[in-house]
Amino acid sequence: MDPSIPCGTTTVSLSPGEGSKSAKVPHICIVGAGISGLRCASVLIAGGVQVTIIEARDRIGGRILQSDELGYTVDLGPNWIHTSGGNPILDLANATGTPLHIWNEKLQVFDHDGKAVDDETAKRLGELRWDIIEEAMRHSKENMHSINKDDSLGQWFEQRVADMKVSEYDKKVLIGMAEMWGCYIGDSIYRQSLKYTWLEDCCSGEESIVCSSYAAILAETARIPLKSANLLLKRNVVRVSSNENGANGQGITIGLESGENLTFDGVIMTTPLGWLKRNEVAFQPSLPSALREAIISISVGHLEKVYITFSTAWWKAGREDEYPGYTNWVSPKYAQETNPQGWPQEAYDLAAFPAPHSHPTLLLYLYGDCSAYVSNLVHKLSTEEQYRALATFFEPYYSRLPNYDRGSKNCKPAAILATAWRFDEFSGNGSYCNFQVGIESADKHVEALQIGLPHSHIWFAGEHAAPLEEMGTVAGAYLSGERAARSVLEQFSSTLQWSAT
Ligand SMILES: Cc1cc2nc3c(=O)[nH]c(=O)nc-3n(C[C@H](O)[C@H](O)[C@H](O)COP(=O)(O)OP(=O)(O)OC[C@H]3O[C@@H](n4cnc5c(N)ncnc54)[C@H](O)[C@@H]3O)c2cc1C
Repeated sequence: MDPSIPCGTTTVSLSPGEGSKSAKVPHICIVGAGISGLRCASVLIAGGVQVTIIEARDRIGGRILQSDELGYTVDLGPNWIHTSGGNPILDLANATGTPLHIWNEKLQVFDHDGKAVDDETAKRLGELRWDIIEEAMRHSKENMHSINKDDSLGQWFEQRVADMKVSEYDKKVLIGMAEMWGCYIGDSIYRQSLKYTWLEDCCSGEESIVCSSYAAILAETARIPLKSANLLLKRNVVRVSSNENGANGQGITIGLESGENLTFDGVIMTTPLGWLKRNEVAFQPSLPSALREAIISISVGHLEKVYITFSTAWWKAGREDEYPGYTNWVSPKYAQETNPQGWPQEAYDLAAFPAPHSHPTLLLYLYGDCSAYVSNLVHKLSTEEQYRALATFFEPYYSRLPNYDRGSKNCKPAAILATAWRFDEFSGNGSYCNFQVGIESADKHVEALQIGLPHSHIWFAGEHAAPLEEMGTVAGAYLSGERAARSVLEQFSSTLQWSAT
């Protein structure tokens, strides 16, 4: 891609015989080459629009990112696909031959004292947990208008469990297990708005995990934009100004950190919500209050991933039946030195993947305060220091798996890889949006972002402007890009029809 292709409105001469008439093909800027920006570009290109994508990083993909540091490829961002109902990312996974895995239904749970919960109880409580969460989704959707804005999913879950005819031990473990819903929203269930829990409905159905990586899905989404759009990498957008110089008298000037200014007929901002929160002043004139309120009111969640890899999957040794894919350590009382707050932990067993994707690795997800603590702990440390700090923090958990032997080399992590999205300004210093207690009219806020400012030729796309049932996901981001592109095509329809004649 040649970054020197000039920006600005392109004048296209019409076919011979039409005299001196000429039509202006609208030139649209997409800020951000994540999945939403790339999908948006494809739809615009198909609609006959000239597209320039401006991206701050030296790569495309945004939060879709892989690492080879462990000696094989792992996703640092998304690796799940929510497969209930239609999902364009599932279609892309199938089209690109991306292998998917559905975890077995077995789960291993360690109680507050670190004792293994028996398999039958773990299974029963695991099912109850999902039943109650699904009930919360229905309750939230049906009673959205009457639920108090300050009620949390966590409180509701506790009340629901209090009424159940199960032992006190089961109740405590069940509530502990429910806390892991925090990984879906990137925050504590006690901060999750009950009123808007239904906006997380996409996460409650069937899910698959990608056993290779999201790379092929990203590559397929990027195929058309890489061929037909003008892609400008390493360009940090710092200002978006409306002016009167574009097609239909309305234009947009994009100011870069380098001091350069580029003009377009319209812009689609796909910068993450966290970026919008920190850069409200980038918009000149200021965004209208409905959009400002939306940006303030929707929250940014914090999810981080930690891959702990060993020379062998020692926890499965000697076991003839299928090992549980999922392990949950509910709020621990036994890790006072490293985790006095009792943050719960969960891990997936990547040794369960079929060959060649199987690895002796545990994938842990951290959310909210725990993710902040661990990211801060290792931020700016050397790789060796990071290894020591992470091994010390997580040892109380993986040491509870079967066959653990502290003296054995096999049980010592070979390598540990932790993400740090919290320190990434171009991901908005977080993982994805969520809806926290106190928020009112969350659906209206999302709608404001979905609509954008078509008359000012400014649109928004990204996981935070997704269809309501897909907020915060790759599929949602992809669909938001499609929707924004359609809105642009509609806005410029008369020009496009004329230029196509
Ligand atoms: C750890 C983690 C795990 C996740 N797991 C899942 C999962 O399993 N399943 C799922 O569906 N979703 C998951 N997600 C969410 C998913 O990754 C996002 O919803 C999706 O990738 C967002 O795409 P996007 O296009 O909206 O934003 P992004 O991918 O963030 O794209 C925005 C682009 O804008 C660029 N940009 C930012 N600021 C500027 C600027 N000033 N100038 C120019 N460019 C700029 C960025 O560099 C980026 O490329 C996860 C996210 C994280 C972080």
